[in-house]
Amino acid sequence: MEQQPLCPNCGDATFACGESETAPPVAWRCESCGYTAQQDQVQKYTCWLCNEKTMIHLKDENEDYWWCLNCGKRGLDPDFAYRLDAMTRQDKQVYAAKCLKCYCGAKGIKHKSIDKLEAHLHAIRMHKNLAEWEQLGAYLDLAGRGAPVPPQLQKKIPNAVRGEFAKLVENCVEVGRSDLEGPPTGWPAHHLKVCIEILQSSNVQLPTI
Ligand SMILES: [Zn+2]
Ligand SMILES: [Zn+2]
Repeated sequence: MEQQPLCPNCGDATFACGESETAPPVAWRCESCGYTAQQDQVQKYTCWLCNEKTMIHLKDENEDYWWCLNCGKRGLDPDFAYRLDAMTRQDKQVYAAKCLKCYCGAKGIKHKSIDKLEAHLHAIRMHKNLAEWEQLGAYLDLAGRGAPVPPQLQKKIPNAVRGEFAKLVENCVEVGRSDLEGPPTGWPAHHLKVCIEILQSSNVQLPTI
């Protein structure tokens, strides 16, 4: 870590703990906004996003959560992250589809093209031939893959979240279709992480596994 960690409250790089981190609870404080939280465990965990062992468990007066000192983002519960990582491509794709559903539910975005995309993504579990399944997805009105969001749907999306919605759809569909040929890669997991980050940064509750 080259710079001081980011504050979970204001985002400035002014979050610091004055004490050694060997005897919890450790008091963290932001010099910029005065936000305080307590680190209640000594142990640091590997962050699911950046793979650094920089994630701590924090408690403030309202809630407790995982915070990555390296990315300056909320992290996932280590057990939950482990279970996501261990999923098959198909299950990761279905989870990404659930993320899209939760996001649309929270933002009040409804359209039949979203329902059709979700049904297609869930169907990955039924298809033996993933290449065939992948091709079917190209014919959808809402397909991701760099294609524009259908105008009828676009009208229903609040201006402020149009970019975010498009990014979520793009990454959601790539979980199941990236690198279908050749040896397994980290791309499906990468795209799923982007979906989860979008939900977390817009305060949408993640779906259960
Ligand atoms: Zn702050
Ligand atoms: Zn991180």
